Amino acid sequence: LSTILRVRNEDLLTKLKELGFENMTYNYILDSETAALIADEYGFEATTNDNTSVDLFEQPECTEQKLLVPRAPVVTIMGHVDHGKTTILDYLRKSSIVNGEFGGITQHIGAFSVKTPKTKKMITFLDTPGHAAFLKMRQRGADVTDIVVLVVAADDSVMPQTKEAIKHAKNSGVPIIVAINKCDKPDANPDKVVADLAGHDIDVEDYGGETQVVRVSGKTGLGMEDLEESIITLSEVLDLKAQESKTLCEGWVIESEMKKGLGNTATFLVRRGVLERGKIIVAGNTWCKVKIMKDEHGKVLKKAGPSTPVEVIGWKDLPEAGQLGLEAKDEALAKKVILNRMAREEKFKEAQDIEKINEMRQSELREANKRQKIEELAKNGLSLEDIRKLDSEEYKDLLDETKQECEIVPFIIRADVSGSSEAIAESIDGLGNDEVKSKVLYQEVGPPTETDIERAETSGAIIFAFNLKTPKDIILKAERRGVHIKSHNVIYHLIEEVTHELQSRLKPDI
Ligand code: GDP
Repeated sequence: LSTILRVRNEDLLTKLKELGFENMTYNYILDSETAALIADEYGFEATTNDNTSVDLFEQPECTEQKLLVPRAPVVTIMGHVDHGKTTILDYLRKSSIVNGEFGGITQHIGAFSVKTPKTKKMITFLDTPGHAAFLKMRQRGADVTDIVVLVVAADDSVMPQTKEAIKHAKNSGVPIIVAINKCDKPDANPDKVVADLAGHDIDVEDYGGETQVVRVSGKTGLGMEDLEESIITLSEVLDLKAQESKTLCEGWVIESEMKKGLGNTATFLVRRGVLERGKIIVAGNTWCKVKIMKDEHGKVLKKAGPSTPVEVIGWKDLPEAGQLGLEAKDEALAKKVILNRMAREEKFKEAQDIEKINEMRQSELREANKRQKIEELAKNGLSLEDIRKLDSEEYKDLLDETKQECEIVPFIIRADVSGSSEAIAESIDGLGNDEVKSKVLYQEVGPPTETDIERAETSGAIIFAFNLKTPKDIILKAERRGVHIKSHNVIYHLIEEVTHELQSRLKPDI
């Protein structure tokens, strides 16, 4: 401290004595509060570093060519409903069993790998067809997909969701391969599909463009090998590579599920580095020490490199699909990172609560001010008629109102089901009059949590638990922090209690 404050050690000790500290020695450990106090004496302003900046980040892109290795393309299947996405995925999955060294069934883990029959290259397919999954991932910033296979039925051609898929793929800059499906059908007209796609801004290769078009049947398997080889050709053009060694592991959560007997499991698609048993991955606000890793055939893997999807067992809580998972060097760091992330989120939410209350207060205040101005004008001899003639928009609609400074009473709603929580919020939000008004900060499903208590403490909110049992430790915590949790099973009684609460805050008429 003396070094930072630029004073001699002895002088600092003397100063401490003056300040009332006894038996101080040069190696005495000061706590942050005392250190700040002393710094203040020397004219320094101390800020407390609470370590909230500890976090994990993606590593910068690897530019060292010799560290980059080719990786399998990650493919998403999109297209109109009933055009055959699921059938194609099923066919590919089955062929992966036939061509692979494992017999038996594959499990749905959200993604699977296929070895192409001719070139013996790997392709990873995301196993959830449809656009919602693709968009959800992208909303979280997860650019998981390298290639979109656009499935168009040869007997139906371009349909609304086909156009939508084209739009999504183009917006995200992901290249398309067209699979014209159901070519086994007698009424199949693949040439019409090609012409229609050309009309929708797809530069199909049949017309000299770059987009590969493959005629397939998910039912008979016709053209499926060609489709796989087209994917490999495009991935070679895209020159897909990843850093595998000398790096921490990174990847995406593809989906997660609580499985009986296994606990929290999540499918992880490695993007960089190698995932191994014992490694620690942080995703969002949860982490895992990899206990077991399995592929889609249920085979236990020791290692998983880039573009390999693996089901990982050992998560503390379920991570969310689309979340980026980053390796932490040890458990202590993982825990610290998560605590910090949660603390930051809480601070952010608390700030939002306060902002909501302030906004409401501000708008009530503005109205009260306007009303006051009108009253002043009226006192100065202007009739309401005259004021009306001033033609000021803001005065006009307020002439009949009598707003005063308003107290806002915030509430947090917890209910057993979302239908109830929404109904309650709707019924009680904004209840009251110009003097006191209720404000629902937020409503959620499930019993009250510690976060609710913290948010209630910061905002002065009352928590309502509807049709739920509040855990004992939460009740105790709330009591300790002066937060009220009120339980109800009848909406009508709950509303009544809100009304009473508002009434109790009315200033008595003098
Ligand atoms: P999705 O909604 O795009 O996933 O479509 P599905 O895979 O569920 O297929 C819809 C229907 O089309 C099902 O009845 C399939 O059996 C049928 N189907 C899918 N692919 C083919 C195909 O190549 N040929 C024929 N004849 N029928 C198909």
